[in-house]
Amino acid sequence: MDRIMFSQPFRAGNEQAYVEEALSSAIWHGDGPFTERATRWLVERTGARDALLTTSCTHALELAGMLLELAPGDEVICPSFTFSSTATAIAIRGAVPVFVDVDPTTMNIDPVSAAAAITDRTKAIYIVHYGGVACDLPALQAVADQHGLAIVEDNAHSLGAYFNGQHLGTFGTFGTQSWHDTKNVTSGEGGAILINDERFAERAEILREKGTNRSRFLRGQVDKYTWVDQGSSYLPSDLLAALLLAQFERFDDIQTRRHAVWNGYDKQLGAWASDNGVELMTVPEGCEHPAHLYFLMMPTHEDQTGLISHLKEQDIVATFHYQPLDSSPAGRKLGRTPNPCPVTADRSMRLVRLPLHAGMTDADTDRVIGAITEYRAG
Ligand SMILES: *Cc1c(COP(=O)(O)O)cnc(C)c1O
Repeated sequence: MDRIMFSQPFRAGNEQAYVEEALSSAIWHGDGPFTERATRWLVERTGARDALLTTSCTHALELAGMLLELAPGDEVICPSFTFSSTATAIAIRGAVPVFVDVDPTTMNIDPVSAAAAITDRTKAIYIVHYGGVACDLPALQAVADQHGLAIVEDNAHSLGAYFNGQHLGTFGTFGTQSWHDTKNVTSGEGGAILINDERFAERAEILREKGTNRSRFLRGQVDKYTWVDQGSSYLPSDLLAALLLAQFERFDDIQTRRHAVWNGYDKQLGAWASDNGVELMTVPEGCEHPAHLYFLMMPTHEDQTGLISHLKEQDIVATFHYQPLDSSPAGRKLGRTPNPCPVTADRSMRLVRLPLHAGMTDADTDRVIGAITEYRAG
């Protein structure tokens, strides 16, 4: 029997043809025709005011920090339960990531803990929709509005995810996407920033293009371009945009497959879960998730490692996810944790993520389910 991988990039079909077309066009640098088409798809799909492809989600988060003018001494609140990028993008500006705890069912930033961590140095709240299940956006928006803070959505999991019909990543000042090959659509590495506040649109282009007004020049709006602002180089090559467009065009098919796996887990693990004290994922009212991941909350840490090794024996790769950032070596050095994060500490020791990718067949899903239901917790 073949190994069932935890995650695997899906071949959409047109990648090679599009990359070949880009190669032949001799436009290999960023902001070529494939970048334009991919960007248009992304804007139409998400309803964002504006979007720019970037070299990664991490870089999109860095660009957001640059646009918000985060500076040494500033504080940005973020969940302890997230990928390191959410925090490194704050720390790279010299600002301090302030770690707060998460909600025990969704694993999303807890608005009450976020509010309790605000000081007069707080500039923004960076949120993550874990598995593309929306954070409590109304509560977070109320906290942000009350204190004049920006919200940035680390939207890496959330292409195809909605809250009350609105695409995630379009609620905050910025949303950031990832096309890393563990995500639903991929160009290997890559990302995008969604810009929901028009005031930042022009400067975002400049900061992304080494501080130049080259984008305006390419549109014929100025007759030469020059260095006008600070910046970096966050443009992906048009070759990668070509690959990405091929993936975007098959997004609905990818999602159909991923939802089939997700729904298989959710429907068929219920009885086993209640017999074994395991919690399945909950999707609150108003949330439409993108089948980015499926997790089980095991009753104990021994059951986390126990289930992962039981599945490994059957050549099925499952993993734990996100070690708390507040107690990580860099988190202790570069961050601040005003209040303990017991939910993150406890749940990160019990969470198991199951294999989920568009290449999984129904037989694969059944095999994973069969292997899981052989396991007895406790
Ligand atoms: C994958 C991921 C990132 C990093 O994305 P890159 O494109 O690899 O930089 C950031 N945040 C979260 C929540 C992620 O899952």
